[in-house]
Amino acid sequence: MIGTSCPRCGARVPLSLAAPDTLRCVSCRHVGPLPGDVADRMRLAVDVFHAADLRGRQLTAAQRRGLTSSGLYTFLFLATFGVLAVPFLTCAVCALPDAQTGRAADPMTVVAFVGPLVVFAASGLFLFTAIGRARRKLQLACAANPPAAAGEPATCHVCGAPLPVVAHGAIVACDFCRADNVVSAEVLRRVHDVRHIVLDDFAADVRSQTIAVGSTAGRVTALAFGAALAAPVVVLVLCASIVVVAGGVEAPPDLTMEYVVAPTSAGTCVAEVERRLDGTVAYDFGSAPGMPSGPQAQPRGTVPAILRATELVGRVVRRPDGRASRVTRVTYSGIIVDHQLHLEPVATGPHAPTYVYARGACFADIP
Ligand SMILES: [Zn+2]
Ligand SMILES: [Zn+2]
Repeated sequence: MIGTSCPRCGARVPLSLAAPDTLRCVSCRHVGPLPGDVADRMRLAVDVFHAADLRGRQLTAAQRRGLTSSGLYTFLFLATFGVLAVPFLTCAVCALPDAQTGRAADPMTVVAFVGPLVVFAASGLFLFTAIGRARRKLQLACAANPPAAAGEPATCHVCGAPLPVVAHGAIVACDFCRADNVVSAEVLRRVHDVRHIVLDDFAADVRSQTIAVGSTAGRVTALAFGAALAAPVVVLVLCASIVVVAGGVEAPPDLTMEYVVAPTSAGTCVAEVERRLDGTVAYDFGSAPGMPSGPQAQPRGTVPAILRATELVGRVVRRPDGRASRVTRVTYSGIIVDHQLHLEPVATGPHAPTYVYARGACFADIP
């Protein structure tokens, strides 16, 4: 907003590129020509204005929608994030204590399964505030100049011409320079405190106003959609990295875990003993191929012959390729919540160092 002091009463008078030769004071009603030095600066500002691109002061259709339908956009944003959050919520549920055994999940498991949800929610919150901030910035960039006095019209933020009064709509195009102006009462109140009359460098102020919209162009929508698409991908990569890193961590054996040896159609195999809150037990053979699926409930009163993971060292088990291998050492994997049985081949021949999980490991030395 450019202006000068009234030569009669000294009040600050906003000037307009639409009437570049005239000073009109709303305080004392004085109307007259601009003082010489002010007229010189005004001519420079008019040159800058004519050289400027019209697009720099007009909102794109997307920006216009972002400013006028913010409620709808907020709803769409929240709905999209809600839908994208479902896999992360599902993942986080896995970290809840087991309903049947009441056993709490391993801390590493909790981090791996709840962490992605926390990161996802945090990125959503960050985006939500960033979009709100970008929208307010755009509103301020193309806000009209508030009325100089009560009863006066708001004026164009680029050229200073009085804006047509409209009953509806928050955005008005200037009749003189076609610049888009946000005229909602709330935005005019906000801009009143931050926009001041520029008394010296008119050309610089006009230059910055003619590109005000362009300099924030597209940021609102680009930020919203780009980030909304990127966030789940980033979180998934993060989730996968956590699982890979945590899955490779070899911890000492957990001697509180109870195993049992039980017959299956694939032979004599190891199962984890699940002690349920109702006092019964179930055998969990894990997810290895050929194993009974899901925990196998045992008749009430069953007293399993408990085996600890370390007792499996020295036993001969079958690897997935069918080869018999001896268990040389046992480590614990928090992410899988099971023990890795590290193997060495019994017979000579090509052999890659490998391991099987305790749950579902079948003995080659017992039929
Ligand atoms: Zn005056
Ligand atoms: Zn204008």
